[in-house]
Amino acid sequence: MTIEKLHQCFLAHPKVCTDTRKIEGDCLFFALKGDNFNGNRYAAEALRKGASFAVVDEDDYAISDRYIVVDDVLEALQQLATFHRDYSTARVIALTGSNGKTTTKELIRAVLSRKYRVIATLGNLNNHIGVPLTLLSIAEDTEIAIIEMGANHRKEIETLCKVARPDFGYITNFGKAHLEGFGGVKGVIKGKSELYDYLMASGKSIFMNADDPIQFKKLNGYINKFGFSMDKKDFFRMSFLGADPFVKIEVEGQAVTSQLIGSYNFTNCAAAILIGKFFNVPWEDIKNAIASYVPQNNRSQILNKNSHRIILDAYNANPTSMVAALETFKKMEGTPKIAFLGDMFELGETAGIEHQAIVDFAASMQFQDVFLIGENFARTDSHLRSFTAFEQLSEYLMKNPVPKNSNLLIKGSRGMALERILEIL
Ligand code: ATP
Ligand code: MG
Repeated sequence: MTIEKLHQCFLAHPKVCTDTRKIEGDCLFFALKGDNFNGNRYAAEALRKGASFAVVDEDDYAISDRYIVVDDVLEALQQLATFHRDYSTARVIALTGSNGKTTTKELIRAVLSRKYRVIATLGNLNNHIGVPLTLLSIAEDTEIAIIEMGANHRKEIETLCKVARPDFGYITNFGKAHLEGFGGVKGVIKGKSELYDYLMASGKSIFMNADDPIQFKKLNGYINKFGFSMDKKDFFRMSFLGADPFVKIEVEGQAVTSQLIGSYNFTNCAAAILIGKFFNVPWEDIKNAIASYVPQNNRSQILNKNSHRIILDAYNANPTSMVAALETFKKMEGTPKIAFLGDMFELGETAGIEHQAIVDFAASMQFQDVFLIGENFARTDSHLRSFTAFEQLSEYLMKNPVPKNSNLLIKGSRGMALERILEIL
């Protein structure tokens, strides 16, 4: 079947499903394959559960006219997404970077939604499947689509750009995340820069943090760029007024206070303000959107529980965001301060060095206590308390609860699921 025909079919049934456990009636089921499963096998079940058509890539499974056979289901999904993106009149903004993509995406969504009909990546669906699914959620009246693009190796962002064909893009930062797949920091810079490479090659507009030396150098000489900066002329001026604990920014003589902690959120807010200005959202609306955005899903949240004040940042962790979180915690008022740090994953060969660096940094902060959790931290050398498994920490805290009225930082990679600490405090 041609992509045009598949698209007509999609317009008649404009919902896409890839998981039979989450079938919504009248959808197109895409029988994707994974390392351990073959979606073709679930196609019949999808149809039984209410899907209108099943897109499969193995002839044997296509036993009625409700099956659409393609060469490769994933490629068909991506091509359909690109076709739909071109068919729609929505403008597409792509975001990538090592840290802060989802936060920045949500801030931009909050700002632009004040004036436009906007869709954005749901949660963190930012890969070769999530990006096409997001593009397919562009509705007839959508004016702007904000697409988060994640990557853990080179050429991934390039591929996602070919699928989403963004009109605009922004890179949050170049940090020490997914070092394993990218082969080091230089690899991260090249990999994330693929977004700017794509936009430059097609003369598209680029949003930038002009105070980031890597972005500044990369885009030097490129005309079609719009950046924010604290001091450089030719860029949109913003000042960082502090984060105690909430990030405060000054724009054209007016201040706005966000509900985000951590000085790193300054650039995330600045990007959303810049993009709001670019799209002519009135300042009052931009300001209200930034001031009322509350982060979700364990991303830098401040909680109060059992007399404790808690920074819960258990959504993910890498060396850059770990240092940023420790610095933020240090600057916060109040004692005692206790940090719970969980292993950082996907660091490859540098795991030993990076965990040791964090341990040394954490020790230098002189918090009242630091608890290290996980096998990587257990291999480091320090006087800090270390627990190889979460269960050991849990047992320890049962016998030795943290003092009342403590300030706690909880940060670790997703796989460590450190939000479980909330249940044992
Ligand atoms: P993922 O790769 O999981 O999709 P992400 O890039 O979408 O992550 P967020 O979920 O927005 O990032 O934020 C995750 C954490 O990264 C935050 O809780 C914070 O600790 C850190 N972080 C956020 N923004 C920045 C930034 N601009 N620079 C450095 N660290 C940041
Ligand atoms: Mg994300």
